[in-house]
Amino acid sequence: MTIRYLPETLINQIAAGEVVERPAAAIKELVENSIDAGASAVDIDVAQGGLDRIVVSDNGKGMSRTDLYASLDRHATSKLPGDDLLAIDHLGFRGEALASIAAVSRTKISTYDSESGESWEISCDAGKKSEIVPCSHPVGTRIEVCDLFYSTPARLKFQKSERAEFMAVKDIVTRLAMAYPQVAFSLTHDGERKLQFHAVLDGKARLSSVLGREFGENAMEIAAERDGVVLSGFAGLPTYHRGNAQHQYLFVNGRCVRDKLLTGCVRAAYMDVLHRDRHPVLALFVDLPASEVDVNVHPAKAEVRFRDPALVRGLIISALKMAIHEGGFQTSRTVSTSALGALGRNAAPSLPLSRGAPAVPASYASSYSSSGPAYALREQPSASYQAALMPDLAVPHAKAEDYAPLPEDAPEAERFPLGAARAQLHENYIVAQTEDGLVIVDQHAAHERLVYERFKAQMAERGIEKQGLLTPDIVEMEESEVQILLAQAETFAKLGLEIEAFGKDAVAVHAVPALLAGRLDTKRLLFDLVDDLRDQDQTSLLEGRLNAMLSTMACHGSVRSGRRLSVTEMNALLRQMEETPLSGQCNHGRPTYVTLSLKDVEKLFGRA
Ligand code: ADP
Ligand code: MG
Repeated sequence: MTIRYLPETLINQIAAGEVVERPAAAIKELVENSIDAGASAVDIDVAQGGLDRIVVSDNGKGMSRTDLYASLDRHATSKLPGDDLLAIDHLGFRGEALASIAAVSRTKISTYDSESGESWEISCDAGKKSEIVPCSHPVGTRIEVCDLFYSTPARLKFQKSERAEFMAVKDIVTRLAMAYPQVAFSLTHDGERKLQFHAVLDGKARLSSVLGREFGENAMEIAAERDGVVLSGFAGLPTYHRGNAQHQYLFVNGRCVRDKLLTGCVRAAYMDVLHRDRHPVLALFVDLPASEVDVNVHPAKAEVRFRDPALVRGLIISALKMAIHEGGFQTSRTVSTSALGALGRNAAPSLPLSRGAPAVPASYASSYSSSGPAYALREQPSASYQAALMPDLAVPHAKAEDYAPLPEDAPEAERFPLGAARAQLHENYIVAQTEDGLVIVDQHAAHERLVYERFKAQMAERGIEKQGLLTPDIVEMEESEVQILLAQAETFAKLGLEIEAFGKDAVAVHAVPALLAGRLDTKRLLFDLVDDLRDQDQTSLLEGRLNAMLSTMACHGSVRSGRRLSVTEMNALLRQMEETPLSGQCNHGRPTYVTLSLKDVEKLFGRA
């Protein structure tokens, strides 16, 4: 057998397999070329998921006659003038996308050369170029790709349904649109307009139109810098979460990348405020000198390699954590909006006009949620309220007179962000009046958060205080469960929980965290801890594991719903919430309170 050199067309077809494995990948390359050409508007028109036809038109700088001819050749690029792979300042640089696409389709390129004022057109059929002919074309370039993969039947067979291909197309266009807010995009499928984004100046506006207005309203701005690495973007409040991590986007130097780095960072940053199965929505942009990142890891450029991944990781985690702490007392604004929506629907069930339609006009929700943060935070509690504060979270039992209708100092208390407690409903919801509205607090969720934050503070200062039990609590369980718990006995001891084997199938509890003493169902706690330990990835960070255990303990030690509180107790809880970091959500990411402004309540009744 002799070695032979493959013909150019075959080489291009082979390369096409890596660069453009599906219509969405071809579209990504074409749109990136438009962005590299300085376009401010890009229109994408596809038929049958892109398998039949793709047209990408832009208003960029176009190509000269010679460039047009060369653009279809492999490894021909205008973007690496210095031959320096460490100085990549365009999205493209490999010079193989057009050659690959044209090798496996019928492609036609029309372009207006803004320098000479001439327009030219070229066609290419499965890699065979036509003559260049003059044409009439407006500013920009139009690339039409028909019958993608028709010359590589093997690849054609592997394409998914038109629907699936179109979903991928839409996803890629969305990602590009997020990264380039100043560029207008439109996407049409089989004659129907599917996406339309106008050019905007700020990234948040674009993110809101891509991820939904709700995201804009529930997002915290992220901005940080360390050693030349700049991080920006928006991250959802912990109370605004989804069931999967699909809506977490990372862009590196303007490229959308799928990197596990982000998943890990997000998990670490939200660990404390979000349940394991819930995922925040966020879009982060990392910009760093081209020499600090290798984008040439994969032909489709969907992966990157950082020279210093630990730096980027640390930056992302700390910036997210800081934002979460600053936004800690806020709960998702959408929570109150949706609560209002529900109220509105039930408010006027018998009105004939409102049958089938929400009683609250659609525009109402937006006017509510755009009204900005409900209150400023920094106010200090007044002296009389300091006095009413509980020395500890273990609220003493109320005396009958505590249930008197209104304490004298109520008006003063209304000045606090969470207002003056007025009632407890269904033994769990505290209703408080603020200066300009009302607040409903989920007492169990709120207390759980307070206990958890106390634990963490104690832990950081001097370790968790424990209280010995006069007679140990004996909890029977399966031998395997006993083993699981005993393996962690040392860790538990640090958390104030002292356990010891008691025979083969029982555990003796000798001490519990002081914060929980007297209010703990030790048996349930131990079983929950077993479950937690079973679930947990043994390699997870120690800090994470401790916090998870603290969170479980806090949940057990908090005021259960069903406990009646006096007005004084309720007010004490509200004041403590105001002073506690992250008190806007419980440890599972559920909001701890909802606020309604008086204006909104009036609107509900058609008064405003
Ligand atoms: P690369 O983008 O890596 O340079 P491509 O094969 O994608 O490689 O494109 C080859 C060249 O064709 C580009 O370097 C650019 O000069 C030119 N080109 C492609 N698309 C456009 C466009 N829409 N507008 C202007 N020039 C373009
Ligand atoms: Mg390119």
